[in-house]
Amino acid sequence: MAEESDQRPLPEIRVHKPWCKSCGICADLCPRNVLLMEGGYPVVMRLEACTACGICEVHCPDFAITVTKPKSHGGAQP
Ligand code: SF4
Ligand code: SF4
Repeated sequence: MAEESDQRPLPEIRVHKPWCKSCGICADLCPRNVLLMEGGYPVVMRLEACTACGICEVHCPDFAITVTKPKSHGGAQP
């Protein structure tokens, strides 16, 4: 039986904790509420809501969060 899971590609969000100063800017500015500050660090709570807009990444003062856009859709391309 085939599983009915949605396999659309998701972005990848990585937090480099040693560089993170727990300012919370990334979580505050995320328009999709993807990030939540927990234990002093941003935690990805809703990756499926992330649009890979990059706002969190560009506004992080310490370059501690990076967003990698999903690879090109695996659609029907010749
Ligand atoms: S890339 Fe955009 S939507 Fe995704 S976590 Fe960062 S600010 Fe939020
Ligand atoms: S904006 Fe950067 S330094 Fe601030 S909490 Fe987010 S990842 Fe950490």
